[in-house]
Amino acid sequence: MMKLALTGNPNTGKTSLFNMLTDSYEYVGNWAGVTIEKKVGMLNNKRGQLIDLPGIYSLSPLSRDEGVTTLYLLDETPSMLLNVVDASQLERNLHLTIQLLEYGRPVVLALNMIDVANKRGLNIDVQLLAQQIGIPIVPVIARTGYGCDVLLETSMQASDDSGSATSSRRFDYGPVLEEAIGKLEAMLPKELTSARWLALQLLEGNIPVLQKLRQHVDPVRLQTLYDETEKLVQEQANGKKLADYIRDRRAAVIQGWLQHAVLETKEQRTTLSERIDAIVMNKFLGIPVFLAFMYLTFKLTFDWFGTPLSDGLDSLLNGFVRDSLSSFLDSVGAAAFIKAVLLDGVISGVGGVLVFVPQIFMLFLIISFIEDSGYMARIATVMDKLLEGVGLNGKAFIPMIIGFGCNVPGIMAARTIEQPKERLLTILLTPLMSCSARLSVYSLFVGTFFEKNQALIVLSLYVLGVVVALVLAKLFSFTLAKEEESMFIVEMPPYRVPQWRTLSRSTWEKGKGFVRKAGTFIFGGSVVIWMLGYSGFSGWNVPMNESFLQSVGSLISPIMEPLGFGNWQAGAALITGFLAKEVVVSTMGIIYAAPTEAGLEGAITQFFTPLQAYSFMVFILLYVPCLATVGVIRSETKSAKWTWFSVIYALIVAYIIAFIIYRAGLLLGFH
Ligand code: GDP
Ligand code: MG
Repeated sequence: MMKLALTGNPNTGKTSLFNMLTDSYEYVGNWAGVTIEKKVGMLNNKRGQLIDLPGIYSLSPLSRDEGVTTLYLLDETPSMLLNVVDASQLERNLHLTIQLLEYGRPVVLALNMIDVANKRGLNIDVQLLAQQIGIPIVPVIARTGYGCDVLLETSMQASDDSGSATSSRRFDYGPVLEEAIGKLEAMLPKELTSARWLALQLLEGNIPVLQKLRQHVDPVRLQTLYDETEKLVQEQANGKKLADYIRDRRAAVIQGWLQHAVLETKEQRTTLSERIDAIVMNKFLGIPVFLAFMYLTFKLTFDWFGTPLSDGLDSLLNGFVRDSLSSFLDSVGAAAFIKAVLLDGVISGVGGVLVFVPQIFMLFLIISFIEDSGYMARIATVMDKLLEGVGLNGKAFIPMIIGFGCNVPGIMAARTIEQPKERLLTILLTPLMSCSARLSVYSLFVGTFFEKNQALIVLSLYVLGVVVALVLAKLFSFTLAKEEESMFIVEMPPYRVPQWRTLSRSTWEKGKGFVRKAGTFIFGGSVVIWMLGYSGFSGWNVPMNESFLQSVGSLISPIMEPLGFGNWQAGAALITGFLAKEVVVSTMGIIYAAPTEAGLEGAITQFFTPLQAYSFMVFILLYVPCLATVGVIRSETKSAKWTWFSVIYALIVAYIIAFIIYRAGLLLGFH
């Protein structure tokens, strides 16, 4: 049975090609030790298996995920390597090709996306290029299947020939490196194949290869040779790192190949993508444009669509649903206790959260749009500079953006950052991103106190979270002295108008957790909180301000007094809010709905001034991550110390900032 390995840079169409060349899955699972999907399929002609390897830019892995391909090449002997390249990005894609050629198994190049290349006015002389590189090249369009039959046939031929020992291709790396390669090859035991490839990968700093070679050669000798070579190279090429030097040599080889084989026929006219990029990725305009975009997002979420829908839902829930349930319970003669649990506990608690569903889905719809349209990659690149300035990796932006939806998956997404300290920093700071649960608290308060400027006030809270994260990153990175920075490369897809189906699907994927949480966790929480409000030291059915809820809330209300919200109700909501931030709304719904008829919004105006409300929202934004987030911090850092740290620093920071804002506000004459 033949084994074909599919390799290529990310986003070059590997998965599309995989689907075209195979008709059934042999196996879908995970690669050992990492959460990367491993797919093996049976080729259409049933003569072999195709293995879909993770997309990488270089065999020398930047993160653990990316080591999968190297480990595969070290441990297995594929019949051939099917290398997918993006025809419109040959210059970058061929770096990997060179490394595959050096490995020493037959390589066939699938020249994918030729439709895109043609549209861009690139004319590729396939025959000439194949001659130059010395391997078969098949132009394909993986999306439509064009050329896939020929590709399969060519790959079969290459595999059939693979028995007659194929040897590793030699590219000249200059006298210094060639000498080092020679020495290394001599050190390696004879039974290791691809010795030259191993030597080169080692010199490039490929960790899995280093680990493998340590089993055969004295690690000290390896290190000495590496250090000596690096020193020589640095002397010769004024301070260049070894890996960069190797990259430069390869770039020169690629230049040579492409020089005559690729012609730009048409005038390189600026594409629409490029014109948009000139604005949104502009050094000065990038961030303002992004902020404007976010402002628009909140305008849509609050003023234009979300709020009217939420209001509608609110009156439906508190009018029709509450009345119907009430008369139904009366008609079946339900006990007063049951009636109170359902109406004052569940409807007030769960309903209080559910009414924000339209706003949250609106926000997720826009985030999905940002992702699918290609804008997300641009924002990440724009933010990269800012993040690097404070000691974070550009990749940290992705966990943070995901954190806007929910901090839990955001923190999990930090796994892609391979530098441990940068990763820890990202995990610690992602909880400062304002998640959708907090949005329900803002919705309640801005709707009540800041009716005219809802979008602006909410935007200010999101920005505050990000700014605090950046400042803290800078502070923490002094203490967390860091090792080498990891590299940030993000694929820059062309702009696309997202398809409605994909959009609605990913919006639902993101938002369903919120709905599910309302139906389960918040439901249970509301019943418990209602009980705490219904009972007290003097027994059952006590007035709310003699209840357990009041006792708990008044424990912390004196501490909160300087921040402007020293009432026990706010205190109780803060404590229960640790379970999940939406519970703040549920708790208030239960506390305030009981004694008043003016509705929740009417009730809170009696307890907060606008300034106090803002201070409260700031505190909600920054104080302790919710229970689920603390849990995931614990499991991702595997450290009780850092978990405690994440809770405590957040409390301190929240207190200080809410204090400053409230006091400064008072001084400035706000109330
Ligand atoms: P992978 O990341 O390498 O697995 O790439 P995918 O197979 O997921 O493809 C990335 C994107 O490129 C998808 O939107 C594909 O539909 C698109 N794509 C793949 N092959 C082609 C092609 O030949 N032409 C065009 N225009 N798009 C393609
Ligand atoms: Mg893929």
